Amino acid sequence: MTTLDGKVAIVTGAGRGIGREEALALAAEGARVIVNDLGGDRRGVGNDATPAQETVQLIQDAGGEAVVNGDDVATWDGAQKLVKQAIDTFGGLDVLVNNAGILRDAMSFNTTEDDWDAVIRVHLKGHFAPTKFASAYWREQSKAGNSVSAAIINTSSDSGLFSNAGQSAYDAAKAGIASLTLCLARELERYGVRVNAIAPRARTRLTATVGVTDTPEGDVFDALSPANVAPVVAWLAGPGAAGVNGQVFAVGGGTVVWLSGWHQSGILQQEKQWTVDDLAAQQKQLFGSSNSGTPAMMIPGMNFG
Ligand code: NAD
Repeated sequence: MTTLDGKVAIVTGAGRGIGREEALALAAEGARVIVNDLGGDRRGVGNDATPAQETVQLIQDAGGEAVVNGDDVATWDGAQKLVKQAIDTFGGLDVLVNNAGILRDAMSFNTTEDDWDAVIRVHLKGHFAPTKFASAYWREQSKAGNSVSAAIINTSSDSGLFSNAGQSAYDAAKAGIASLTLCLARELERYGVRVNAIAPRARTRLTATVGVTDTPEGDVFDALSPANVAPVVAWLAGPGAAGVNGQVFAVGGGTVVWLSGWHQSGILQQEKQWTVDDLAAQQKQLFGSSNSGTPAMMIPGMNFG
């Protein structure tokens, strides 16, 4: 008996990279999987069913059940068809892994309107649209008196959580996904749905352009293999993560970091409106001994050398 026996899962962007490994891991745990992938290039241009078909073949070769879905998850229509396909094909839906993504890096002053819209659309809308239709299904099931034990796993990024120069649209979308995760966790808990997010780190075509390319030779642990991310998603999808809701984890190699969000770092308070001069005079008190300049980009504990 595996942890996801009898469950039905959707993984978006599962034709390659992290999503493919997630689909394989969910199938290995017993889930029947809808392998969604539009199949465009890394900038999100074009479409091709081959990568999703290959993932389905790998799952079937390992004795699992999977089908291809080639819809664009960043459209209401595509997302609705995707959720409907899971219900029509496998009789329900239990797990939604929102993973599909693209990259169009540029400094803010060089960002085109098309690049901004494409990145925000695929990541932010591409997370929300499948969630909207999946959550409507789970709410309907719950209201009909059927027991729901479902999970959504979203994909943020350390770039979105800690920021990275040259990725303004991507960072905004990925920070939005972390925030969306918390909102959905509050909204859907009452219907039996847990919602968490990961910020993965792995060698894929998206990170190839920033120098993450080398596969280690010999019998050494491949810390940047996308396969390392997948067990965390399979854990979050199943009963082993009962009670884990609204949390964000940085994941890569053999490291899992539990991240906490915005918190109060300093405060100025008085029973009257502040003046500009008083604020300037009190600045040191607000920040204390902390640095008030640009925050460092880092995830404590995530060190791949
Ligand atoms: P990848 O390019 O290998 O895989 C992404 C997949 O998403 C592609 O197969 C692509 O065809 C698919 N896709 C894109 N737009 C789609 C759409 N509209 N509908 C359906 N499918 C679509 O990249 P990856 O590195 O595996 O990235 C997976 C996720 O992880 C992304 O959300 C990415 O932002 C995130 N991420 C990756 C890293 C990393 O280190 N690789 C770091 C942080 C976050």
